[in-house]
Amino acid sequence: MVGMTVPTIALNDGNSIPQLGFGVFLVDPAETESIVTSALAAGYRHIDTAAAYKNEEGVGRAIANSGIARDELFITTKLWNGDQGTRSAHDAIDRSLANLGLEYVDLYLIHWPVPAQGRYVESWLALEQIKAAGKARSIGVSNFKEHHLNEVIDASSTVPSVNQIELHPKFAQRELRAYAAERNIAIESWGPLGQGKYSLAELPEIAAAAEAHGVTPAQVVIRWHLQNGIVVFPKTNRAERMKENFDVFGFELSADEMAAIDSLDDGTRLGPDPDTFSLT
Ligand code: NDP
Repeated sequence: MVGMTVPTIALNDGNSIPQLGFGVFLVDPAETESIVTSALAAGYRHIDTAAAYKNEEGVGRAIANSGIARDELFITTKLWNGDQGTRSAHDAIDRSLANLGLEYVDLYLIHWPVPAQGRYVESWLALEQIKAAGKARSIGVSNFKEHHLNEVIDASSTVPSVNQIELHPKFAQRELRAYAAERNIAIESWGPLGQGKYSLAELPEIAAAAEAHGVTPAQVVIRWHLQNGIVVFPKTNRAERMKENFDVFGFELSADEMAAIDSLDDGTRLGPDPDTFSLT
């Protein structure tokens, strides 16, 4: 079985998550069913979507048609900014489950803190109820900085199982990772390949490791995430890249190669700053 090679990470609530998955941000809703079908065929069992991506229905159709047992899949979706709040969060998970055609998601995340709205603590308490109701097996957050995490931890009885954050060689988030490790919060990388916004091949540290192992720059970077204990789900529309990005268990980066890639962190944030992002 192709999927058998993917390691899992233990979450702080007793559940586990496949460390390598497939992300569908910016996957056209009209193409999502066929693209996710290809990803499942390539061996991926962990899919990361969001209500905001407008493609949950395509993900759901691909799952339904795959014939893969529900308990072999790990499906994540996210509470969008405009749906934060108690009642609206409950409505939003019900809509997402209907779109996905599922009775539960494996992981439900608050997509962004949106401090301007001041509702992420209230939303977190709603996620606790959603988990208790069995609609999400695990709950977590996304784009939370340390101070946002501290607030939800202080105001509730549940430490988020996951924080999904922008993380790639030029933005390695070492401090937030150390904070998360102390509290047993798993880190997931979004934009793990730098979203194609900078060339991995042109970074000599990455190119050298790719050459040494006979793999591609993307494979080196995915390996860097995995060897750092991070959960990663690169996105691609192309079947050959789905295979490439999944074929990362036949080599290992050395400590020197890991350190060389660590040295690329120059604080380049590609996406919005969570303290100010307030799109609804
Ligand atoms: P990625 O870093 O995964 O980069 C995707 C880009 O890289 C696409 O342009 C893709 O092009 C290209 N690519 C993929 N594989 C390869 C390869 N092997 N070689 C060369 N280029 C490649 O960015 P994402 O933003 O998609 O991040 C991954 C996932 O993280 C998202 O899909 C989503 O699930 C999640 N995410 C979460 C966010 C949040 O706020 N919580 C924000 C952003 C993303 P092509 O498709 O043409 O192959």
